[in-house]
Amino acid sequence: ADQPGSGKTYLIGTDVTFAPFEFQDPSGEFVGIDMDLMKAIAKDQNFKYEIRPLGFNAAVQALESGQVDGVIAGMSITEERKQKFDFSDPYFDSGVVMAVRKDQEGIQSYEDLRGKKVAVKTGTEGYSFAESIASKYGFTIVPFDDSAQMYDDVKTGNSVACFDDYPVLAYGVKQNNGLKLVTEKEPGASYGFAVQKGQNQELMEKFNAGLANLKANGEYNRILETYVGENA
Ligand code: GLN
Repeated sequence: ADQPGSGKTYLIGTDVTFAPFEFQDPSGEFVGIDMDLMKAIAKDQNFKYEIRPLGFNAAVQALESGQVDGVIAGMSITEERKQKFDFSDPYFDSGVVMAVRKDQEGIQSYEDLRGKKVAVKTGTEGYSFAESIASKYGFTIVPFDDSAQMYDDVKTGNSVACFDDYPVLAYGVKQNNGLKLVTEKEPGASYGFAVQKGQNQELMEKFNAGLANLKANGEYNRILETYVGENA
């Protein structure tokens, strides 16, 4: 039988392009680790939801103002965000790394960024990290709304480097996105599903219960294998 509240359709905000976590397949459908996890958890826990691909910063703002019920977007569980949001159990480890254009030989370290432009994505951990070292290494930050625009700015040569999440940049480089990694990844927070603090606790409980079930029954590993396994 249906549980109380099971008739509700939750609105879930996400990023526009953040492979392998959320991206459009050739038919335009949103796929990726986040999308597949959400689908499997909703099925396991018997709730309905709709995905709203708003862009990362817009999705976080929509959650803050209550326009969406939750966000799944490779969103890092940070102390600062915990003031405003409740997070699920972590489901993927991340960290920030720098990338440069594939044929770029002049940028090997943060020291080489002096006097140059660096592309970042508004509202992200990558942005915060770049901002925290910008004056020390003497570079200028150029903000973008999504990862594709940020990478394009590096490929056209306006910016010499960008900072984004390691699993996303490593996946992109493997897919031949025109960039390469030249530094070690910085330690960073793990990803979690977020709701507004104190709100939608029922949804959060379902997410955590579903995630635990998927980890126990092998479905979580199967989803990861699809996107980041050896045969992905
Ligand atoms: N993990 C990063 C953050 O939470 C970036 C997320 C994203 O760009 N979708 O800030």
